[in-house]
Amino acid sequence: MITRRWYRRSGQEANCREVGQVLQSYLDGEVEAGFTAKIEAHLEKCRDCGLERDTYQQIKSSLSRQAPAVDSAAIDRLREFGEQLTSE
Ligand SMILES: [Zn+2]
Repeated sequence: MITRRWYRRSGQEANCREVGQVLQSYLDGEVEAGFTAKIEAHLEKCRDCGLERDTYQQIKSSLSRQAPAVDSAAIDRLREFGEQLTSE
């Protein structure tokens, strides 16, 4: 996994490519704590990566707003249930 490889090189600064590779994991909270600081330090300095993070965050928040409250299988079950009731 990419984050582990990077972690071993602690001491070196993260570059744009590395930040880009882990940005989604970082935003999902899947990155180890030691690393989060490194990513954040880079995002502070680097406008390009900062913008990319903003874009990801916007996508994430719009996805979570649009997340279906009910999945289609549940709707099907509900419809079947309704049909059983009316046929009896
Ligand atoms: Zn960058």
